[in-house]
Amino acid sequence: MKEWFPLSKNDNSDGSFSRLGGIATIEQEPIEVKCKCPKCGESFESDKIMVNPPNMGGENHEESIVYTEEIYLCDKCGSEIEIVIDNGFGGVDIEVEGLSRKDIFYRLPSE
Ligand SMILES: [Zn+2]
Repeated sequence: MKEWFPLSKNDNSDGSFSRLGGIATIEQEPIEVKCKCPKCGESFESDKIMVNPPNMGGENHEESIVYTEEIYLCDKCGSEIEIVIDNGFGGVDIEVEGLSRKDIFYRLPSE
């Protein structure tokens, strides 16, 4: 089984962060996200989320960002777990509504 990586491993000491590389391609790539339910703390693992490719017509990273949004329901409390993945020329970032970066883990099944 592939290893889960904390999103925060890409954080820099000055408060900035590096985006995940290796996924900013034309093809859709899957990513899996593990976190806790923001409401009740139950652990949660997503299915493979197919990340939309960047907008190749963009002039720079900001213009190339394409979002992929998936909403799951917590098995325990039924709350929504909202995962937003943005993908641009500079790489990928993951957000989960209500959680900080250190509470988010990911793995790339294709690597
Ligand atoms: Zn819950």
